[in-house]
Amino acid sequence: MRFINSITVALAFPVFLAFPVSAVAEIKALIVDGQNNHKWTETTPVLKKLLEDTGLFRVEVATTPPKGADLSGFRPKFGGYDVVISNYNGDPWSAETMDALMDFVRKGGGFVSYHAANNSFPESVEYNKMIGVGGWGDRTETAGPYLHWRDGAIFRDPSPGKAGNHGARLPFLMVLRDSKHPITKGLPSSWLHEADELYDRLRGPGENIRVLATAYADPANKGVGEHQLMLFTLSYGKGRVFHTTLGHDVPAMRSVDFMVTFQRGAEWAAKGKVTQKLPVDFPTAAKVSVR
Ligand code: ZN
Repeated sequence: MRFINSITVALAFPVFLAFPVSAVAEIKALIVDGQNNHKWTETTPVLKKLLEDTGLFRVEVATTPPKGADLSGFRPKFGGYDVVISNYNGDPWSAETMDALMDFVRKGGGFVSYHAANNSFPESVEYNKMIGVGGWGDRTETAGPYLHWRDGAIFRDPSPGKAGNHGARLPFLMVLRDSKHPITKGLPSSWLHEADELYDRLRGPGENIRVLATAYADPANKGVGEHQLMLFTLSYGKGRVFHTTLGHDVPAMRSVDFMVTFQRGAEWAAKGKVTQKLPVDFPTAAKVSVR
C-alpha cells in the first residue's frame, strides 16, 4: 500500500519532483548584446532571468566588444542554439557573422528582436527582411513603407520620411489582433501596458508578418495617429521570428504583459509552440500590472 501511494505521488508530480529544473530546461537560448543606446547591462540580466524563470530555457550571453572596437572576432556559434535573442543596437558585425545569423534563421532557427534591436543594422537588407520593420539608423523611404494597422489589416504607407519615433513614456493600451496565435492565445482583447516607449513610424520591407497586438500612437503624445505594430511574428526562410517593440528599460520590463509575451515569444521562436500558462496577474484594460 505504501508502495502504491508513492507511485501515485510520483505520477501526480511527475516532472518537478523527479528532476531538478535544469533537467527540463531544454531550449538553448543565446542573448546577444554589447552595444546599445539603451542600458543593456541592466536589461540583459532581466531577459535572462525571465527565460530561466519559465524552467524551459538554458541561456547564454554573447557580448560584443565596445563601440568602435574591432568586431571581427565576434563569431557566436548560432547553430548551437534554438533561439537567438537580440538586445543589440550598435556597430555592424562582420559579413561572416551577419551571414551566419541569417543562415541560422533561414535554416529554421528562432530569432527574437527586442526593443532597440530593430534600430540595428539599417544597412543589412536581409536583417531588415527578417525583422520586418525598423526605426532610426538613418532609415528612410528606401527602407520600405511605414507599416500601420488600419481597418483590420496592415496598411503600407510609402510616403517619404524618417523612421522611428516615440513620445513621452506613458502607460498605453495594447489591442489584441490575433487570439489564435500560440503567443497570444488566452490574452484579453486589450490591456494596459506600463509606462514605456510606444515605437511608431517604423518602416521596412514588412513581408511575411503576422500581427499579434497593436497600440494607438496618439498625436497628443507626438504619435502618428495610427495604430502601430507592437508585437508580431514573421517567417524568414524556415525560421520563426518574434518581434517585440516593448521594454525600453527595467521598469517597463516589469509590466507583466512584457514578461509573458517575451517568454512565450521566445519559446514559440525556438519550438513553434507555447506551453506556458497565462498568469493570473496579467493586466486588464483598466489596470496595469507590474512585478
Ligand atoms: Zn527605448
